[in-house]
Amino acid sequence: MSTPSTPHTPDNQNDTRQSQHTPTDAPRSIAIIGAGLAGTGAALALARAGYRVDLYSDRTRDALRDEVPATGTAILFGASRTADAQIIDDLYADNPAAHFAASAAGLANPDNPSGVDSFPARYTYEAQSVDARLRADDRLAAFLDLTGDTAGDATGSAFHVTRVTPPDLDRIAADHDLTLVATGKGGLADAFTTDHERTPYPGPQRRVLTVTATGLPSDHLFSGRAEVPGVNNALLSLHEEGEVFVGPYLHKDGLDAWVILAWARPGTATEQAFSEATDAESSLRILQDLHRRVLPDVADDLDQLRPIEADPHSWLAGAVTPRVRRPVGYTDGGSLVAALGDTAIAVDPIAGQGAQLGDFQVAALVEGLTAAETSGQPWDADLLTDLFEAHWDNHGAAGVAVTSLFLGDPLYAEVAGAFFGSAGADPAYATALFSLFSEPAPALTLRTAEDVAGLVASFSQKVTA
Ligand SMILES: Cc1cc2nc3c(=O)[nH]c(=O)nc-3n(C[C@H](O)[C@H](O)[C@H](O)COP(=O)(O)OP(=O)(O)OC[C@H]3O[C@@H](n4cnc5c(N)ncnc54)[C@H](O)[C@@H]3O)c2cc1C
Repeated sequence: MSTPSTPHTPDNQNDTRQSQHTPTDAPRSIAIIGAGLAGTGAALALARAGYRVDLYSDRTRDALRDEVPATGTAILFGASRTADAQIIDDLYADNPAAHFAASAAGLANPDNPSGVDSFPARYTYEAQSVDARLRADDRLAAFLDLTGDTAGDATGSAFHVTRVTPPDLDRIAADHDLTLVATGKGGLADAFTTDHERTPYPGPQRRVLTVTATGLPSDHLFSGRAEVPGVNNALLSLHEEGEVFVGPYLHKDGLDAWVILAWARPGTATEQAFSEATDAESSLRILQDLHRRVLPDVADDLDQLRPIEADPHSWLAGAVTPRVRRPVGYTDGGSLVAALGDTAIAVDPIAGQGAQLGDFQVAALVEGLTAAETSGQPWDADLLTDLFEAHWDNHGAAGVAVTSLFLGDPLYAEVAGAFFGSAGADPAYATALFSLFSEPAPALTLRTAEDVAGLVASFSQKVTA
């Protein structure tokens, strides 16, 4: 466990008024900046908890859903679905196209006639794979239902479409009992200083290219890969120049789709190819070519995919700069603000942690704020820091660690060798590896082949594949 972060507290801070609230007052007011998954989730859950919520978005509801790419794939890999269910009812539970429960791990191997060593893993959980734009839109719709309409209701909750500037933030934070900044990796995130001790790398470790496409049914069994029948299968493949995930995905328009999510190591031909993506069609072609070149066993399958014509935003290219920020900051005028979602913890998507961490953080924040209200504890910097520290201890540190493991950090060299060295002989190895997407805590202590064997032993009983 790392040393708790110490918030910067300027002399002119004005959060003392936050301790003056009494239970007989009108509902406390909360401002949330940013209507991504974290912002919409917090708005809905806090409004449901009885608070007056002002949700600020730089885009209209329609634009958020239809005029931008998803900020990420946002697969919920198991344990985080419980936190998600604390925020909003599971609206996708009955949709088989939105779930998968097995992955064939593949290790490119030119000496293998198929070009790949393949290891099937049956999960001990069910991953839910739903377009982040649909998830956020459903949260926003439920929030708007509570408010009556965008103009506000009896408690005064409302959705405001405006790009919040730092002076706006100053004013908003001064006018609300609590202000949460959920503007993702950019936006107003600079209101919070970087926690360098917890930030694992100074810059991006991979270039990322992703596209959503149709053409294969969600229960497709890939040729040439070890498969687990009876559940939807995904693929996670490692090759010399990077990694690729291919999995079923419920597109925002209800299409039974697939997402291809690929990472390129710096300085490789794959990275160069990714930089040439200009739209969904070229992204898909680049990723199909990549499979033809380094993962040929599934190249014919991937060639059946085609772009989603109705959604020109179904692709995304770039690189994530990892950053863990101090949980609280102050506006120029000295008002307290707290970081939420990617604004608080941004990680490379290779281990699928970002949206999951956001869900855990929102669920715990709502519980923490209501408990503090009941006990008369002020909503001040100490409380918000304590809540973030608990989130860091329960989920954040592990999410960051498992991301480093999947990025091939030298710290985990023996661990990676142990997983892949034994996965062919014992399916529990691949299952244990995939369990880390859902429950990453073991990544905090896994260092040796012996550690891996210990983790795998706990899965041997559960593996049915
Ligand atoms: C390629 C990729 C794949 C991923 N896959 C997964 C995965 O499988 N599982 C997983 O758990 N996570 C995954 N993630 C991470 C996940 O997508 C993010 O953690 C999550 O979407 C972040 O949500 P957020 O609400 O914190 O931020 P965002 O989604 O970035 O939302 C921020 C919102 O704030 C708005 N905004 C910005 N500035 C302002 C302003 N000044 N005023 C008003 N509004 C503003 C933005 O327009 C945006 O709507 C992936 C990420 C990437 C890049």
